[in-house]
Amino acid sequence: MSIDSEDDDTRQTVLVADDEQLNRKVLTDILKADYRVILAKNGAQAIEKAAVHQPDLILLDIIMPDHDGYDVLYKLKARSSTQSIPVIFISALDTEAHEEKGLLLGASDYISKPFRPTLVKARVDNHMQMVRQRKLLEELANLDGLTNIANRRCFENCLAKEWGRAKRNRTPLSLAMIDVDHFKQYNDNYGHGGGDMVLRTVAKALKHALKRPSDKVARYGGEEFVILLPDTDEKGAFELMKALRQAIQALEVAHAFSPTSPVLTISIGGATLTPGEHVEPIALVNRADEALYCAKEAGRNQVIWAGLATSGA
Ligand code: GH3
Ligand code: MG
Ligand code: MG
Repeated sequence: MSIDSEDDDTRQTVLVADDEQLNRKVLTDILKADYRVILAKNGAQAIEKAAVHQPDLILLDIIMPDHDGYDVLYKLKARSSTQSIPVIFISALDTEAHEEKGLLLGASDYISKPFRPTLVKARVDNHMQMVRQRKLLEELANLDGLTNIANRRCFENCLAKEWGRAKRNRTPLSLAMIDVDHFKQYNDNYGHGGGDMVLRTVAKALKHALKRPSDKVARYGGEEFVILLPDTDEKGAFELMKALRQAIQALEVAHAFSPTSPVLTISIGGATLTPGEHVEPIALVNRADEALYCAKEAGRNQVIWAGLATSGA
């Protein structure tokens, strides 16, 4: 038995906002074979549904009784959650002045009523293709090509967001810097390809070890990884990272040239802060980095947490 629910629908979504029921129906009929169609019958609904459903594209009427289409577009562009959703005006106001106003306000396209269904469909298809490409590029720009986990750029955005959230909620934010021990020796003796494979293996194990959806792992650069644990205090983070260090050792990846251990190991340095007024996220990164340096100095294959006396070997 197949269950056909909204959540299973992976098609792109278009929001149609028009106060005329007939227009909504005609547009739905044109689009429903290829897209998930959400309807709004006035401006207020259009703004609300755009924020909630995050459609890929909005078809927007201009003359509506409450907020007109220009007003709706203005409000969509003012909100960070909806500002990058492309909007196509579909309007009976068919002078060039209206079209100019719409495009200058940030609309992606302008279609005059009465419209030819095939033209509407073709234009929607074109915009949807651009949306797909933009989303793909965005995804790629945030991914590390070797390990397929988040890259540093993505991590820095995530840190800024989580920092803001932790500051508002007065919750602790924990950050761990992870560095593979004697990785240069690994490369030198097993080859760069072997080293690449190890980085993939470590990335996968790190990702696997994280429990909450809000936890984030990224490749920080070279053989360094970083983990961000929102709403996690220092004891909890320290315990989790100790388990992680063990998990990597337990993989038993042979590293016959490591002075530390016959198998591959990692060192971890971490820190926890509850963001305050005069502290920047870089302070958390720096403290974790210093702890990592201490873990290396103290003999590698261990976890050191800033402010906690014990080290977790
Ligand atoms: P330590 O125990 O102090 O961390 O020593 P280390 O040898 O791990 O650290 P070092 O910084 O001296 O060397 C890191 C090596 O990681 C050098 C660099 O060539 C290698 N590396 C960086 N990025 C990659 C990569 O993408 N693939 C491979 N195979 N090696 C990389
Ligand atoms: Mg290293
Ligand atoms: Mg390093």
